[in-house]
Amino acid sequence: MKLSLVVPVYNEEENLPELLPRIYQAVAPLNLDWDLTLVDDGSRDQSAAVLKQMAAADPEHVRAVILNRNYGQTAAITAGIDHSDGDIVILLDADLQNDPADIPLLLEELDKGYDVVSGWRKDRQDNKLTRTIPSRIANGLISNVTGVHLHDYGCTLKAYRRDILNKINLYGEMHRFIPVYAAEAGGKISEVVVHHHPRIHGKANYGLERVFKVLLDLITIKFLLSYAKKPIYLFGGVGLGLMAGSFIVLLSLAVRRVVVGTPVLGSPWFQISVMSFILGFISILLGLIAELLMRTYYESQNKRTYDIREVIKK
Ligand code: UDP
Ligand code: MG
Repeated sequence: MKLSLVVPVYNEEENLPELLPRIYQAVAPLNLDWDLTLVDDGSRDQSAAVLKQMAAADPEHVRAVILNRNYGQTAAITAGIDHSDGDIVILLDADLQNDPADIPLLLEELDKGYDVVSGWRKDRQDNKLTRTIPSRIANGLISNVTGVHLHDYGCTLKAYRRDILNKINLYGEMHRFIPVYAAEAGGKISEVVVHHHPRIHGKANYGLERVFKVLLDLITIKFLLSYAKKPIYLFGGVGLGLMAGSFIVLLSLAVRRVVVGTPVLGSPWFQISVMSFILGFISILLGLIAELLMRTYYESQNKRTYDIREVIKK
């Protein structure tokens, strides 16, 4: 069994010289086949040069992948996963906030038969107001909406079996949702408390604006989980609801016209219900287009709508 460590790097020249010894210290005693993939995500400092030196100094274990420009942490992670080949992948940050000393703990937990072991920064060392508190709210929300119950989706330090990663495509800034995709793909998920240290060198790349991105990502993932294979249920459901509602309003306006004599056209409800009737109709049409897209997605790539663990036959 082989372990691949993957580290995304963006402007971390001061942290790298300290990171490598800590990784060696954690992994060497484990006595297993391992490698380390350091991905430079278009750093503007000397990180790329430092990574090249590190790869040259220990070609047996260290690989440097230098990206063309800054693509963001998720893309950097994906590049690292693609360029490594261990059966187990552990991701960690380059800024020394994650502690490589936790690696054996993650492996031990994974060994109990899990596909993903998520690190939980229980004692998180980041700015309370802009990071820790918003993140706690976001984590609660993600846990509720997705039904995959973890305390800390944003913690990079997590261990994955490659089989499960192979089933997942990551876009945008979706790396925090890997456990959710993994659960959807049938993976078993666990969680362990890991250490977290304050950032000493360099500066954090994210602030409060990430809250909104996470919120939008969450809407996307909820849609994908619940409706990607049957979009007409969502669009058509909304559409039918709107049309039914406006039909009832129009009908009661007509009844009122006959019984009391109030003119239909004078009521604002007339315009509102005509508008929502049209909206409902368009929503159903959108759902039909989404159904076409979904079929194209599966059939053009020969994708299956299921995933088999094993088939038993004499
Ligand atoms: N990172 C990256 N590309 C980016 C931003 C960040 O590869 O565009 C890396 C960064 O070098 C670090 C990790 O992603 O190793 C996490 O970044 P950061 O420490 O800024 O995030 P935080 O720990 O504050 O969530
Ligand atoms: Mg950090």
